[in-house]
Amino acid sequence: MKCPRCQEGDLFETSSFSFQKPFDMPKECPNCGQSYMPAPGFYYGSMFISYIFMGWFCLAFIALLHWVLGWSTAASFALLILVCAVFFVWIFRMSRSIWIGFNVTYDPKTKEQLKN
Ligand SMILES: [Zn+2]
Repeated sequence: MKCPRCQEGDLFETSSFSFQKPFDMPKECPNCGQSYMPAPGFYYGSMFISYIFMGWFCLAFIALLHWVLGWSTAASFALLILVCAVFFVWIFRMSRSIWIGFNVTYDPKTKEQLKN
């Protein structure tokens, strides 16, 4: 969860499991100045990444608990809801990180180097 251009600056203001300001991102990378909101509604696409990931994850999780480990359906879904609640912020941030990584290419120059 670093800046996709310099891979130095943090993409989010707090760590993934702090649960303080979970959705806040700086306006730009403190190291290279890459904008973290390159266009209005930029992170709309990251919704599809988290949707696809969570869809497959939930199916696999329930299948594992119910059919492999023999848990009841209610217990399987209860644990799934708990796991989703705990990892919600991490999944949100990871999908945003993957989405901006698709759209910004790596360039190790810092803000000062880009000025010259
Ligand atoms: Zn950067």
